[in-house]
Amino acid sequence: MNLPDEIKKITAGLEKAGFEAYAVGGCVRDLIMGREPKDWDVATNAKPEEIQKIFPDSVYENNFGTVAVKTDSENVRLKIIEITTYRTEEKYTDKRHPDAVKFSARLEDDLSRRDFTINAMALKEKPRAAGADSENYEIIDPFGGRKDIDKKIIRAVGNAGERFGEDALRLMRAVRFATQFDFSIEEKTAAAIKENSGDIVAISKERIRDELVKIIMSENAKAGIEMLQDFGLLKHILPELEEGLGIGQNKHHIYSVWEHNLLALDWAAKNNYKLESRVAALLHDVGKPRVKRGEGPDSTFYNHEVVGAKMAAQILERLKFPKKFIDKTVILVRYHLFYYNVEEVTESSVRRLVKNVGPENMDDLLEVRIADRKGSGVPKAEPYKLRHLRAIIEKVSRDPISVKMLKINGDDLMKELNLEAGPKIGCILNILLDEVLDDPEKNEKKRLMEKARALNKEPIEKLEKMRKMSQAKTQEAAEEEFRGIKSKYKVG
Ligand code: ATP
Ligand code: MG
Repeated sequence: MNLPDEIKKITAGLEKAGFEAYAVGGCVRDLIMGREPKDWDVATNAKPEEIQKIFPDSVYENNFGTVAVKTDSENVRLKIIEITTYRTEEKYTDKRHPDAVKFSARLEDDLSRRDFTINAMALKEKPRAAGADSENYEIIDPFGGRKDIDKKIIRAVGNAGERFGEDALRLMRAVRFATQFDFSIEEKTAAAIKENSGDIVAISKERIRDELVKIIMSENAKAGIEMLQDFGLLKHILPELEEGLGIGQNKHHIYSVWEHNLLALDWAAKNNYKLESRVAALLHDVGKPRVKRGEGPDSTFYNHEVVGAKMAAQILERLKFPKKFIDKTVILVRYHLFYYNVEEVTESSVRRLVKNVGPENMDDLLEVRIADRKGSGVPKAEPYKLRHLRAIIEKVSRDPISVKMLKINGDDLMKELNLEAGPKIGCILNILLDEVLDDPEKNEKKRLMEKARALNKEPIEKLEKMRKMSQAKTQEAAEEEFRGIKSKYKVG
């Protein structure tokens, strides 16, 4: 267990001026658990003005008694240390912010306003005993945080019902910590989460999203989502996912839609996939319950990837994910179903798939696909098929898949055909691309220009129609081909 020098300097500075100072909260918990703390917080009985006097290179950040001190550390986690004056909190009428904070002279007051016992400890270095070769620490632990770490338990500080009633974000935090640390939630704390779960709607979507992301990014993500469901939180956050509960699938599956989505997430989490692939794995079949036709071994789920992609977009927008993140994740859901069989699929259909998905997303799409298969309960390994597909993707990725990769561009058209800048140029280029997608050999300057010359004679209305058709083809052709083969072999 080691306190970084930056923290020691800060606590020493405060103590030299006659104040108390401790490392508190998450960093103490992480030190005891042997994890690297994400950020370091210091608590003191000095008032903000007094802290600022001791550390001139600091900013008084907010009205809650937090002063941010800049250090010269190279480590991003230590560049800014937050020093907070001991405080207690008054009533929380809105279930998310205290109505007022009062500074306090006692560390115990400050620890007792914290959420869970494992987060309510303070620590400081004690002078080294003469001759001792290791550092000596004093841990203030009034609520039994260390014991709960040993027993792997999340337990609210004080009366659980009251604590969740004060701040509903703690409902999510409890599940998040239990997931991250693989802890269980103590009985009374768990009962209080269930009882107060509806309050989560008082919390901003951004803060809910941040906790959800931490749950999904932990190795135990599956257990975390199951916990959210069990506690009655998921129905306020991601109700669409619950639609899959108990929805049986056809003869190709042994799991319900709910179980299957979670098992896909489990694979993604256990294999360290990035957030987009994990979320796409979790949502890849979210559309299934809404398109299910029939019951039992012959039920069908036509178009679930299209419906699922729309639902994924709505879900992620609602949770305020950034647009780029949404676009990518939605693409992964939309195209997760691609069918691939070594002998049957043409290069041109893979090329269209790559165009639709984007070359930069192909690796992630393959991951989602693997997670889907592994989560199906019939994980026939297909290493050869995937290797083969990767090789084809690599090969076709060198072929033109966007107008930018054509051997002629808008300038050429303007010059050679005496065209003015305008929509006609885009139309012609896209129609040319459509042909080249089928046959990259056709990406040849002279041939393209001849074809462009012929197209230029057509009225713009006709060109626009042709462009639309070629775009629809790009959207559908690959899938049509895949789907046709799929239904022939009755898979999926
Ligand atoms: P992380 O590993 O995500 O940083 P953390 O426990 O350090 O986890 P922070 O949000 O950094 O979480 O908060 C630091 C400390 O502040 C917590 O350990 C806890 O003592 C206290 N705290 C944070 N949020 C709350 C809350 N909503 N209610 C009560 N105490 C809280
Ligand atoms: Mg922290």
